[in-house]
Amino acid sequence: MTLQTCSSPAAETVPALPVGATLRGWLDHLRRTGRLTLGSPGMDLVHGVAGLANRLDGTSATVFPHPGGHSVPVVSGLLSRRAWMAEAMGVPQPELLRHFEQACLEPVPSREVAGPPCQQVMHRDVDLTRLLPIPTHNEHDHGAYITAGLLITRHPDTGVQNVAIHRLQVSGPDRLGALLLPRHTLAFFQEQEAAGRDLDVAVVIGVDPLTLMASQAIVPIGHDELEISGALRGSALPVARCLTSEVRVPADAEIVLEGRLLRNVREPEGPFGEFPQYYGERALRHVIQVSAVTHRDLPLFHTIVGGSMEHLLLGGIPREASFLSHLRRTFPSVRDVHLSRGGTCRYHLAVQIDKRSEGEAKNVILGALAVHYDVKHVTVVDTDVDVHDPTEVEWAVATRFQADRDLVVVAGTQGSKLDPSTEDGVGAKMGLDATVPLSAPEMTFTRIRVPGELELDVQSLTEPAPPDWLEGLTR
Ligand code: MN
Repeated sequence: MTLQTCSSPAAETVPALPVGATLRGWLDHLRRTGRLTLGSPGMDLVHGVAGLANRLDGTSATVFPHPGGHSVPVVSGLLSRRAWMAEAMGVPQPELLRHFEQACLEPVPSREVAGPPCQQVMHRDVDLTRLLPIPTHNEHDHGAYITAGLLITRHPDTGVQNVAIHRLQVSGPDRLGALLLPRHTLAFFQEQEAAGRDLDVAVVIGVDPLTLMASQAIVPIGHDELEISGALRGSALPVARCLTSEVRVPADAEIVLEGRLLRNVREPEGPFGEFPQYYGERALRHVIQVSAVTHRDLPLFHTIVGGSMEHLLLGGIPREASFLSHLRRTFPSVRDVHLSRGGTCRYHLAVQIDKRSEGEAKNVILGALAVHYDVKHVTVVDTDVDVHDPTEVEWAVATRFQADRDLVVVAGTQGSKLDPSTEDGVGAKMGLDATVPLSAPEMTFTRIRVPGELELDVQSLTEPAPPDWLEGLTR
């Protein structure tokens, strides 16, 4: 028998992970590209961390060494620009929404591993503020809040998981107050509570950017958002079983709180500064009892300041992706959508359509208002208007919209409870048709432009004017 000499078989090609597939890799990528700032050591956990993070929001991520004297550093501002999200996914910005939507449609099941980094250290004696540097953000917040914690729940019978971010108030050494809006976490919990059981949960702090974005996907109940993270990274996300429950958590997370949502317990939670730049009110809310804390050696604590760009965009971009896909199912003419910052990335939706028939824009308005109750004002524009540029959208309203003809108002609808101008969430919807009438004479709505302007190579055609520029002109 001869040993075959090894002419190496076609080397197995393992596709490289997108740069946003690990938290520490992403932070180092930001550092290499001049977008990671080190705060002064010992910044105050009460308002100090949030204040500096806000000042750098959208410019740089921030690392806070020894916040409030704590040994665990805080990080903030990981994803505070739309372009950074595309970069983390490894796609050009115009493909951001379609790429995210594709991941939602083709999830990749997670892969279970043993001995994960997130369980290098375990604490059964839980004192949250002693173990973790939990900041207080806005002026009237009740106190310290965990704001970037992925709340993972698992259906005890089916094993299906759900992932969402809920604001978590530190209510005691091992107690969190949770705001559960009427979506999937609440549905999982209500089923268990009705059966007389608590619901096992994990709160995961410090995950990679792709998992962070996946947690905000608007997919039907029964879809584990961690599998969308797997699709975004292009390979199965490593997960690990919690030490005290069956819940599976991202294996490479920095910090994991294991605990239970308590049946038949409600305690005061709030106020808390929210995405509309106002406070969510104090009320009786759900309670999580924390039974164990696990973390990496030398973990990082991620915080998202309420109302920051990171907060607005994390909710906004996945919503845009699902609005785009939802609208296109009914209206093939829809090309693009944008939730603007001025509209808190929730309330103001701009839709671009390739209009083919008169009246279509108003149908799109009605369809868009029905996709999610948060959407309050919808503006529809033509394909020559960039929906991602609020100045362009305003220009279209200024020059293509007549209020007596192009305005749609619907009274008494369900809106966002966090919109203070509503009556407990009930208010009006408005749509603006800022598209050009198909019958308009061609020149009436032709945008001015200088032929060849965009193709000029300005750098090669120009130089800075020298001090003797005036004499120079005549020599
Ligand atoms: Mn869900």
